[in-house]
Amino acid sequence: MKVYVVGCGYVGLVTAACLAELGHNVLGTDINREKIKKLQKGKSPIYEAGLEEIIEKNIGSGRLKFQVGIDANINKYDLAMIAVGTPERVSDGRADLYYVAETAKQIAKNARKKDFVVVGKSTVPIGTSGQIRQSLSLYNDSRTKFHVGSNPETLREGSAVSDFMNPDRIIIGGDQKAQKALLKLYEKINCPKIVTNAESAEMIKLASNFMLALRVSATNILARMCEATGANAEEVMKGVGMDKRIGPQYLRAGVGYGGSCFPKDTKSIRSIAKHWGLDTSLFDAVMKINADQREWFCQKIDKMTLFTLKNKKIAVWGLAFKPDTDDIREAPSIEIIKWLLGEGAKVFAYDPAANVRKIFGNKIHHCRDKYEAVKKAELLVVLTEWKEFQEADIKKVKKLMLVPKIADGRNIFDPKKIRKIGFEYSSIGRK
Ligand code: NAD
Repeated sequence: MKVYVVGCGYVGLVTAACLAELGHNVLGTDINREKIKKLQKGKSPIYEAGLEEIIEKNIGSGRLKFQVGIDANINKYDLAMIAVGTPERVSDGRADLYYVAETAKQIAKNARKKDFVVVGKSTVPIGTSGQIRQSLSLYNDSRTKFHVGSNPETLREGSAVSDFMNPDRIIIGGDQKAQKALLKLYEKINCPKIVTNAESAEMIKLASNFMLALRVSATNILARMCEATGANAEEVMKGVGMDKRIGPQYLRAGVGYGGSCFPKDTKSIRSIAKHWGLDTSLFDAVMKINADQREWFCQKIDKMTLFTLKNKKIAVWGLAFKPDTDDIREAPSIEIIKWLLGEGAKVFAYDPAANVRKIFGNKIHHCRDKYEAVKKAELLVVLTEWKEFQEADIKKVKKLMLVPKIADGRNIFDPKKIRKIGFEYSSIGRK
């Protein structure tokens, strides 16, 4: 099929590249000129395993192209996919649909075909497909008949390409023509496909992310309890996850969830419940526990500190909200570094892929490697569970530090081993 993907961010770009890899002819478009320039040269603007290779390969085969903006070229395509951002609206936590609205308008203005399938891939509030349909008709003056679908994306950053190619399920919503087109689009992917109306498709995505955020917050509140009572959160959650009704995923204690999805989608589903006059207490609790978890971890750092953090050199390992990505949106590292700076600490941070220069500028030191960060540090704070950190030469770290102390927000080290080497060590939910 010929697919027109609007928005070349983490989702749109992976979608465009993977659809081309599956044999479709794909055009990826974005309003960001710099991004498109890079992509036209076969370079990925984001860090994602395996992505650049398939971009290069499919540009080479002629199945993948990129251009700036939407134009009449769109009429050569069978299906348009909206994969633009839906950030949080600062005022009330609802999703900001401005980019979706602009995209629908631009598609409508350029469409001249008799029939056209337009599919929403972004995560949106329930009912957005209906609004896309209205907008497409309103701004189109060629009597195009639009068929609107909803196909929310479920990939995870860090394993986006393999998630796209081997998903647990594909969510297919919308009217019949849109559903049919989506089934054809994904016919080569062998997985369960849930076919439903657009509203249910939109809700499946928000509900799934909420359930995952709920598991993270439940795990974190239990981890705090473990620590208080002498239980070991890691062993407890291993035991809990062995129950087949529960399963082992998303039961790791840490400094809370972050990223571009869970925080925003949890706020979004809460605001939808509020709009309908429904009980929001469970959504509120999940968000509160997540915010408290960071504060609770900062208190741990405070307790480990001799006198005060003022003027102390503190090393931070990990900035990305999770390993194998350069995404720092809503990453716990940002709030924790802000708190450290507020306390007067000198922060020396390192991450293998992410950087926070745009947020902190020269207020912190951006280190080129993990060992540079810990040199003469009085505490090492671990905020992302990169493999590189788990495999660090920890004896070398001890020698480099002024005071061997670690506050491990991701439980990457074995407490017994690390203490035996001579570190003062604190982690999450484990004594
Ligand atoms: P992103 O911010 O990385 O990318 C969005 C892109 O859309 C940007 O490159 C932006 O320039 C472009 N854009 C905005 N307006 C445009 C327009 N009018 N025309 C063309 N391009 C335009 O966002 P993302 O992380 O890719 O997320 C996109 C959507 O997918 C969001 O709704 C998000 O919630 C959802 N989602 C994200 C993930 C994830 O892991 N990032 C996973 C599943 C779903």
